[in-house]
Amino acid sequence: MSDVPKIAIYDTTLRDGMQGEGISFSEEDKLKIARKLDGFGVAYIEGGWPGSNTTDTEFFRRARDVKFNNARLVAFGRTRGAKCPAAEDPLVAKLLDAGTSVITVFGKSWDLHVRDVFRVTLDQNLEMIRDTVAYLVGLGKEVIFDGEHFFDGCKADLQYALGTLKVAEEAGASCLVLCDTNGGTLPSDIAEMTAQAVKQSKVCVGIHAHNDSELAVANTIAAVRAGATHVQGTVNGLGERCGNANLCSIIPVLELKMGMSCVPEGAVARLTELSRYVDEVANIVPNDTLPFVGVSAFAHKAGVHADAVEKNPRTYEHIAPETVGSVRRILISSYAGGSSVVHMARRLDVDLNKQDPQVKALLDQVISLEREGYSFEEAEASFELVVKKSLGLYRKVFDLRGFRIIVEKRGPGEECITEATLKVAVDGVEAFTVAEGDGPVHALDNALRLALERFYGEELAKIKLSDFKVRVVNTRAGTAAKVRTIIESRDSEGSWNTVGVSENIIEASWKALADSVEYGLLKHLGGK
Ligand SMILES: [Zn+2]
Repeated sequence: MSDVPKIAIYDTTLRDGMQGEGISFSEEDKLKIARKLDGFGVAYIEGGWPGSNTTDTEFFRRARDVKFNNARLVAFGRTRGAKCPAAEDPLVAKLLDAGTSVITVFGKSWDLHVRDVFRVTLDQNLEMIRDTVAYLVGLGKEVIFDGEHFFDGCKADLQYALGTLKVAEEAGASCLVLCDTNGGTLPSDIAEMTAQAVKQSKVCVGIHAHNDSELAVANTIAAVRAGATHVQGTVNGLGERCGNANLCSIIPVLELKMGMSCVPEGAVARLTELSRYVDEVANIVPNDTLPFVGVSAFAHKAGVHADAVEKNPRTYEHIAPETVGSVRRILISSYAGGSSVVHMARRLDVDLNKQDPQVKALLDQVISLEREGYSFEEAEASFELVVKKSLGLYRKVFDLRGFRIIVEKRGPGEECITEATLKVAVDGVEAFTVAEGDGPVHALDNALRLALERFYGEELAKIKLSDFKVRVVNTRAGTAAKVRTIIESRDSEGSWNTVGVSENIIEASWKALADSVEYGLLKHLGGK
């Protein structure tokens, strides 16, 4: 095992990732993500820039009480200012206040920035790097040096850019990180310049790439090939502008394709879970098409592909989905042919083969529902109910007896009031409820929950409606315009989507909502 090359993973989701548009983490969010990253097994967690805002300062204060098992927490900040020594610089003092054993200091490696942004001489900049690194090393800290704009610096003045690394190394930095801060460098240039840095350095060389040319992962891999052994990035590629290098792609590439070791054994299989967790805390909708971890990464649609994958997964999958904690999905559509039906039946522990008349009947049903405007690709839970009904595995949890919705606006500037009245029956026992809501779907959901509470209170409490989408569809049947609503619900284990179609938006919503609640209840009721 010892000759497997090792790469240190340095996560900056909590610092650079937080620069992404629409991303904001509270201290509590940051602590949650830090614990998750530690459990996953990254080597370093960059927690933030102490002193730059109260959240980061407070985060480091609270993180002192957290015991990390795999990762080392890192405070990030700049080199000292031009005027005073590092020992007297207030921002450097803040870095020390964070109380971490590792500190990352970024300095300028591009002469343009030295002159136009810092407005100091090239030598003064070198002295700022040397003094800051030496001061912190002298206090027993492990210091990582980030050479900001290193690659642009190389293009402008190669010797100077390399010189900034040399100064940091001589001052005691343990790792020299080459940053493609503007994200505009190509992999071939990254490889060449990284090789030069590796050649002149005795300490570890790292890479920090941004995704402005959609090359952050490729650039990271190019740097590793050229000798970098420390990789910085963020979960799901969160970050400023187009984001940082995506660790959820880099980690499996290093581990599964390059034979390198960067996380503890078994961690790669928890990658999808890590990706979803961070999106969940960041409150952003997961990107379905992310490689490795997106829900579409192992989704097969076209009939021939779905068929071949069922026979031998390697035909259309570059890795087995389980290796990154994902699952294969055969998208439900008449295009996918019998495979989608067979695949779903297998999930329900029913073994069918494609020649089975039940498969043909189900497929005919899918085709006719698609004509009406249904699409099950994004609504597997509704499809599961269709299959269960057809295979006799279905159990009705409630009957709708009727509903009425009133939407009222009492004058200009007044808010709309929505009220839903609903009648359902469970095993012949009727429940009649009235509820208000923010809009018709919300009001219906509230009324339904109220009605079902006394029958399924415990199970119902676990299910939450989390997203609602409406789309106008031109049905293949060519009738009047219809709307398709997709409802996403979730529980502590995951989410599921259901679909409803009608010419009436309220009815379409009701169908999706009824499926959603029914699916969730059946799941939690189990054999009850
Ligand atoms: Zn960055």
